[in-house]
Amino acid sequence: MDIDAIVQILKDAKQTRSEFVNLMDTFNDPYLVLISCILSLRTNDRTTYPATLRMLELAKTPHEMKEVGIKELAEAIYPVGFYENKARQIIELSRRIDEELGGIVPDEIEELIKFNGVGRKTANLVLSRGFNKPAICVDVHVHRIFNRLGYLKTKNPEETEFALREKLPTKHWIDINTLMVTHGQNVCKPINPKCPECPIAEYCKKIL
Ligand code: SF4
Repeated sequence: MDIDAIVQILKDAKQTRSEFVNLMDTFNDPYLVLISCILSLRTNDRTTYPATLRMLELAKTPHEMKEVGIKELAEAIYPVGFYENKARQIIELSRRIDEELGGIVPDEIEELIKFNGVGRKTANLVLSRGFNKPAICVDVHVHRIFNRLGYLKTKNPEETEFALREKLPTKHWIDINTLMVTHGQNVCKPINPKCPECPIAEYCKKIL
């Protein structure tokens, strides 16, 4: 399968990106990528976007965030999924980063996943978006679309991440998440994908 062609077509297609994806693109701070990604877990972008803006009005650094009350943060990020847990996790990891790590977000997956509430998806996004390091952030869109294409045959996002690490050329690692998320939100939707108008249909095995 010509993955270079698929990536180029998706780049050229310039599908509409969600406001949250655009916002994440403006961050060049790993800490902002980290806490925004936590908000986005199990929550759609339409809800996550305004919640992220409200969170950033309260604090933008670990030092500031550790002083925010859990209740105050939970109210600001409501109604993202699990908002109370996420508020607790964000304040606790902010305290650790500020007090134990000198204010520096770790740039290794193994260190990042030690934070409560941070899984491989979030850790990979921090590496790729925050540090510009080659890492593959696999969410449900990336997992679903690569399997529909027939590029992989995997059972869950974690399996997909490791399969892509073997197969996907490194030059595509950083960009692939945004491209597939945007394609998944606009065309290759979870239910009723719009195959007749899909720009990469000729490469797709359409394993639905
Ligand atoms: S052809 Fe259909 S299944 Fe394949 S990527 Fe496009 S929308 Fe998804």
